[in-house]
Amino acid sequence: MKPRVYIETFGCQMNVADTERAATGLRASGYDLCTSVDEADVVLLNTCSVREKAEQKAYTRIGELRAERPGNLLVGVMGCVAQLEGEAIFAQASSVNLVIGTRATDRIPELIERARDGEKRVLDLGERGDNESWDVSPVERHSPHVAFIPIIEGCNKFCSFCIVPYSRGRERSRPASEIVAEARRLQALGYKEIHLIGQNVNSYRPRVQDGLEGFSGATPFCRLLRAVAATGLPRIKFTTSFPRDFHPDIVTAIEENPNLCDWVHLPVQSGSDRILKLMRRGHKRSDYLERIQRIKNSSRRLALTSDMIVGFPGETDEDFQQTLELVKECDYDSLYIFKYSKRSGTPAAEFHDNVPETEKTARFLELEKVHRTAQEKIYRSYVGRKLSVLAERQSSRSEEDLSGHSTCHKVVNFRGDGTLEGEIVDVLVTAAKTNSLYGTLVGR
Ligand code: SAM
Repeated sequence: MKPRVYIETFGCQMNVADTERAATGLRASGYDLCTSVDEADVVLLNTCSVREKAEQKAYTRIGELRAERPGNLLVGVMGCVAQLEGEAIFAQASSVNLVIGTRATDRIPELIERARDGEKRVLDLGERGDNESWDVSPVERHSPHVAFIPIIEGCNKFCSFCIVPYSRGRERSRPASEIVAEARRLQALGYKEIHLIGQNVNSYRPRVQDGLEGFSGATPFCRLLRAVAATGLPRIKFTTSFPRDFHPDIVTAIEENPNLCDWVHLPVQSGSDRILKLMRRGHKRSDYLERIQRIKNSSRRLALTSDMIVGFPGETDEDFQQTLELVKECDYDSLYIFKYSKRSGTPAAEFHDNVPETEKTARFLELEKVHRTAQEKIYRSYVGRKLSVLAERQSSRSEEDLSGHSTCHKVVNFRGDGTLEGEIVDVLVTAAKTNSLYGTLVGR
């Protein structure tokens, strides 16, 4: 019988995409992928290290796995914790058999082979090979209707708080010809929505122009958006955008192409220039607001979401007030708020973290309250409106309901049966909930 591998994924959409890629390679090398720890011969934890809690989760999970499955289960750690901690993982969790860095995804079959042959501690923190394929088999995708296409990996920004440049290496963009070909393949397979993903999608800079010929744009990313839109795929979303590299032509490309969806995720992290400078974001509050103006003045109503960090070292009450003001001004459809988490190896880890935990929590709650007020108003404004929704799955709340996303990336639930799954339908919104909308099917 073929050895069975179970991959458990934590963290961002890049980790989801890496899991899909790892599963594709494993199956091609004769492994079976299974859906639970109980059936597995090998368990791989695809880990996240962006905040301390996420990293702790990985170690907790290793302990749980050993308790659940004592005996000869092989346990591997992949992803960001693996890349950052390397050998140290073996010291901290002696039951781990494999440590697989973020650029070793395509070598996983050989690494597991070595562990199965009796090698006690298998470690690979190496770089990607030059001709490695980014291909993902449709059976390994996390959804049969929505697909992630990585267009850039790594990060060159070195924001002072962020571990990503250390865990994921330098930015590397995929040729547009490959991205467009993947979009076309997905379209032929019936996928209705793709997400172009990367830590900073709009910093996209491929080494070759293949696939961008004939498409104009102020930056390579704007050209890529137009090239992907030209495939005619019904819904195209992209995340995450980096403020400094957010060219207004991105909004123009959206305005020109109805299949570029009406949603922009533009993390700002703070509303205070002093803190933005300490964070080394490379943009000021006014630069950010200029970009937001273009988004808000678009001829299409574009949903806007962001990330914010509270309690960064040195953040005063006045800095925090500026963050509150910015959030009021931006009227975000959704805001992901994080309490600053010290990441060792980053420049900010050396700063004096003088904001007490209680103050971080108080700021978190206050910001959440201000944001919620704006969000509620926005969500209520959808009541009575018709939205185009991709029916993705049965709702987790009710067997009689389906759940999907609108083009503005709101979760929309509505009464409907399984035959609608995978279809784009019209839903009349009848109620606004905290983080979702509820409605009635009015057209297919
Ligand atoms: N590349 C994007 C950017 O910086 O704009 C997003 C990268 S990160 C994976 C996702 C979010 O996690 C960030 O936008 C930030 O708000 C949050 N984050 C990153 N490092 C953090 C830290 N040390 N403490 C708290 N939140 C953090």
